[in-house]
Amino acid sequence: MKITKAVIEMILIHAKKDAPIETCGFLMGPEGFITHSLEITNMEQRPDHFTFDPKEQFAAYRTVKELGIEIIGAYHSHPATPAQPSEEDIRLAFDPKLLYMIVSLADDVESVKAFYIRNGNVEEEPLIVDV
Ligand SMILES: [Zn+2]
Repeated sequence: MKITKAVIEMILIHAKKDAPIETCGFLMGPEGFITHSLEITNMEQRPDHFTFDPKEQFAAYRTVKELGIEIIGAYHSHPATPAQPSEEDIRLAFDPKLLYMIVSLADDVESVKAFYIRNGNVEEEPLIVDV
C-alpha cells in the first residue's frame, strides 16, 4: 500500500499528542494510495482500547463520498506496546477490506505498521512511502 510521508507524520503527531491515551482515525485516498488521514475521537479515552465516535465516523463516510475518494484503512496507536495487533484488535477487526494501521510509541521508538485482518488471520501489508 502506498502512503504519503505527510500522512505518516500527521499520525505520529496525533499519537504523541494523545499519549498515553490511544489515538484513532481513518486513512483515505484514491484506490491503493493513502493520501489523507482523519482524526476520530476515541470515545473510550483509554491507554489500551479505542472506539470511534459514531457521529464522526458517519461524517467521515460522507466526506470521502464528497471528495470522490475511499476509506482505505483505520489507524490507532499503541502508546506502550509494539506495532502488532492485540488479541482484541484481531477480534474486533470487522472489515476484511480495511487496512489496519498501528502506530507504536513504545520505548521511544516510533514504528508504523499495517495489516489486513481476515477471519482472525493477520497479514502484514508493506507500506511504500511516496512523497
Ligand atoms: Zn490495538
